[in-house]
Amino acid sequence: MTYIIGEPCIGTKDTSCVDVCPVDCIHPRSDEEGFEAEKMLYIDPDECIDCGACEPACPVAAIGPEDAPIEGVSQDEWDKWLTINTDWFKK
Ligand code: SF4
Ligand code: SF4
Repeated sequence: MTYIIGEPCIGTKDTSCVDVCPVDCIHPRSDEEGFEAEKMLYIDPDECIDCGACEPACPVAAIGPEDAPIEGVSQDEWDKWLTINTDWFKK
């Protein structure tokens, strides 16, 4: 399992989640190359330990587990966001 970041992060990108993640699996961090150009942040599914710490830290409720979509999002749509998060780390 992994947690996923969805559409509400776009345009918010305040990095509150990065500060609470114990395994540093949310990228790009603000000190990483490409942060300014990136429209949102992503969770690395291979590194996430499903601790859930990031979910309440997000001011716009953009984060949730892969099997529990955020408000207003269907599981099918959430599955697409899982792919978006996963693919970002394959670049
Ligand atoms: S669930 Fe935990 S490990 Fe996974 S991204 Fe959130 S804070 Fe990091
Ligand atoms: S806390 Fe939420 S809005 Fe802020 S960077 Fe993380 S996912 Fe995006």
